[in-house]
Amino acid sequence: MSKNNRQPFVAGNWKMNGSLALVADFNEKLNTVNTRAQVVICAPSVLLHAFKSTAFSIGAQNVSHLDNGAHTGELSVSMLKEAGCEFAIVGHSERREDQGESNSLVAQKAAKCIAGNLTPIICVGESLEVREAGQVEAFVGQQLDALIDVLSIDELKQSVIAYEPIWAIGTGKTASPEQAQEVHEFIRGYFAKVDAELAQGLRIVYGGSVKPENAETLFAQNDVDGGLIGGASLKAEDFISICHAAN
Ligand code: PEP
Repeated sequence: MSKNNRQPFVAGNWKMNGSLALVADFNEKLNTVNTRAQVVICAPSVLLHAFKSTAFSIGAQNVSHLDNGAHTGELSVSMLKEAGCEFAIVGHSERREDQGESNSLVAQKAAKCIAGNLTPIICVGESLEVREAGQVEAFVGQQLDALIDVLSIDELKQSVIAYEPIWAIGTGKTASPEQAQEVHEFIRGYFAKVDAELAQGLRIVYGGSVKPENAETLFAQNDVDGGLIGGASLKAEDFISICHAAN
């Protein structure tokens, strides 16, 4: 399967930003987006109810690996589904760092999503220290191993992978198109050792300071199927132009 057979994917990650006014702005503007890409907004959970989306889907930024019970502050897959989510980000580096989420917990969350019909957007990516030590493939490989251990080939086929080098997130330092392509190719090759068809169909998106100015060259790389967008997803015009770059 060539790149053209994989539908491009662009998701916005609002993080702990946004308001009902911003949702209203996106309801008006993003519903006119004209792109081949599948478009998703992952907003704070308390805002999800206000989206009126016809041209895009909504997603959560995190989800519990458990079904229900005494877990204060957590949200389950079924709750997010009822709130209208079709996607959930799992294993974002901010949660891996702030909440100590391990590779195996991230894999369990992804499995829970798939069992409940929510598509996981699974984040992987290295720190600057790891990159400077020449350990990118070893580090990302471990993150992928945890997924391969827990998820079946069929479950992996239902996932989206986001390669997000931590040093590029929110820093304004984007990976060069070559740096992004190199790791995306490595990730696809890693999955190809498990199953060739899985690897060919898998959507692997890049995240880390994507902006309207750099989106097109990043998304044009052979193994880059779109993006996970933080800061630039907070302005409808910028986000729409990134969605168009995925054409
Ligand atoms: C992110 O939070 O997933 C992200 C990529 O952020 P930014 O685009 O702001 O670097």
